[in-house]
Amino acid sequence: PPVLSVRGLTRHYAGPSGIVRALDGVSLDIAAGELVGIFGPSGSGKSTFLMLAGLLEAPTSGEVWLAGQRVSHPQVNIDGLRATRRRQIGFVFQRANLIPFLSASENVALSLEIADVAPADAMAHARRLLGALDLAHRADNQPSRLSGGEQQRVAVARALANGPPLILADEPTAALDSVRGRQVMELFRRIAATQGAGIAVVTHDPRSTGMFDRIVHFEDGRMIDQA
Ligand code: ADP
Ligand code: ADP
Repeated sequence: PPVLSVRGLTRHYAGPSGIVRALDGVSLDIAAGELVGIFGPSGSGKSTFLMLAGLLEAPTSGEVWLAGQRVSHPQVNIDGLRATRRRQIGFVFQRANLIPFLSASENVALSLEIADVAPADAMAHARRLLGALDLAHRADNQPSRLSGGEQQRVAVARALANGPPLILADEPTAALDSVRGRQVMELFRRIAATQGAGIAVVTHDPRSTGMFDRIVHFEDGRMIDQA
């Protein structure tokens, strides 16, 4: 089965002038090893899609399936999905949001410790991951000592730490220059190819279009085409 499958995903919000259809019946599959780009104007529902697919919010209607299991639907208690979320999904946001008083390796190890990995094992794995992302020399530095590109790669390492089959990224290169942005995108490509993760990246960056296996466009809460 696909790592992610959403069916008829819909989210309405009550706004001051009526109901806002933030997401309106989106159906989409992401296969293992597939890197999918999500494009669309501001307000088209891209972030809402990631929140629902990432089990951070319940849909008004529709379903989210992870690896063939139905996990989210309107009646589900989203807080109860915390363990599923931790095991199965890695998140990357526009800003790295690393904990400033922890080193790069401690930042990565923390997400393993939260998932009950013993501290020594977590630290060893964190160092291996940072090494694989060409950040071994940065492992003991705090985020303020790292460039923006390096910080974002640490954030990617953190998202990968628990080996999630699905990675959701919300404008991960928006705060980076084109060279660093390209490095992060190449990293996603490598992770999809070598670890078989399915990856969805919301982006505005037209320079990244050639990096994706598939691109979908959102408009007014709907998916208007697939290429
Ligand atoms: P995008 O990520 O493509 O910019 P969003 O998913 O953030 O779009 O927003 C889609 C629409 O839903 C927008 O009109 C936005 O104002 C609205 N929206 C998003 N979140 C909320 C919320 N919590 N309450 C009310 N309206 C919201
Ligand atoms: P990167 O290739 O990782 O994006 P840059 O080309 O921006 O890095 O910077 C090169 C080196 O200079 C990096 O190793 C980084 O640690 C260091 N550096 C960049 N900006 C800063 C900064 N504001 N404070 C400290 N070190 C910095």
